Amino acid sequence: MQEKKKIAIIGCTGSIGTQTLEVIEQNLDKFEVILMSAHNNADLLIAQALKFVPNTVVVTNEEHYTKVEEVLWQEDIKTFAGEKALEDAVQMDEIDLVVAGIVGYAGLMPVIKAIEAGKNIALANKETLVVAGEIITKLAQEKGVNIYPVDSEHSAIFQCLAGEWDNKIEKIILTASGGPFRGYSAEQLKSVSKEQALNHPQWQMGDKITIDSATMMNKGLEVIEAKWLFGLQPEQIEVIVHPESIIHSLIQFEDGAIKAQMGLPDMKLPIQYALSYPKRYKSNFKRFSFADYSSLNFEKVNTDVFSNLKLAYESIRIGGNLPAALNAANEIAVSKFLDDKIKFHQIALINAAVLDKIDRIQQPSLEDLVLTDKKSRELADQLY
Ligand code: MG
Repeated sequence: MQEKKKIAIIGCTGSIGTQTLEVIEQNLDKFEVILMSAHNNADLLIAQALKFVPNTVVVTNEEHYTKVEEVLWQEDIKTFAGEKALEDAVQMDEIDLVVAGIVGYAGLMPVIKAIEAGKNIALANKETLVVAGEIITKLAQEKGVNIYPVDSEHSAIFQCLAGEWDNKIEKIILTASGGPFRGYSAEQLKSVSKEQALNHPQWQMGDKITIDSATMMNKGLEVIEAKWLFGLQPEQIEVIVHPESIIHSLIQFEDGAIKAQMGLPDMKLPIQYALSYPKRYKSNFKRFSFADYSSLNFEKVNTDVFSNLKLAYESIRIGGNLPAALNAANEIAVSKFLDDKIKFHQIALINAAVLDKIDRIQQPSLEDLVLTDKKSRELADQLY
């Protein structure tokens, strides 16, 4: 019998984490969960741990430690608390693959620690590469670590690249659903509600990424993520709106051939591929049928209305610490919007203002990026 791949899931109670557990549950002969972490959702973490019985559980919000520990010790599951504990835990010898499902900047340090320990990464946390893409890709190369994309667009590119490793990419085309406000004018965006913004037409996801999809910042972050994952220049990355979300992204090679990966929008497929690569495992995910779709549509993004996408391109063209600043500003802006403190269109205004105000550093160290993140959050906090 083939040995089971030992999986660590950081951020296991979020959207990616729970879907990763669904994939694992369908493939218990191939995968085993060895480490789980969550921040706030102690009840779900306990339930998941009792079901999958990992070796170790980390609850990064220390307030929940006692509650979690007092249940899990009875099952011989080791429980630790705090962010430092997670940074240590991801280095455990037994781990084969770390699934990074934590949302936002909080995913950065555990991912770096896991790479330092030589662990392969299934990366759902795009913010990690947005903040520190250069440092992380360099470190991964040094350590011989593979980073498997979980983001559906990047997984699509990765799947299209199978067997093409030596062939040069001319460009890639990332598809975007356009979100709930596709076709809106800048004026219309000023009066949209939180409920509308949280109601994504195609994908069921966490709140942060759903708002990012509505503002198109998600696509902007994905452009930056793609630059690092596939070693591309900004000019080689295009974005096209594709409302049906069936084509998950495309590559154009140097001979002009275009390859695309298609399927119904379901994150479990990219998650499973990141876990099973280079193999494909049989699944019961719902199949796409051409007969159900009389047409697939494509349109250009209006970056005058969805200016976040423009800001993302600008941040990688200038480079240095700007993408980190953009990410931090956006995290604050989105949380302010979710807390009803600002209006939807002000998210992009905050992002633009922070990019403008932050001191630029051309070759930032990790410490510089940590400081940039902190300063950008303070700047964003003071706006509106
Ligand atoms: Mg995506």
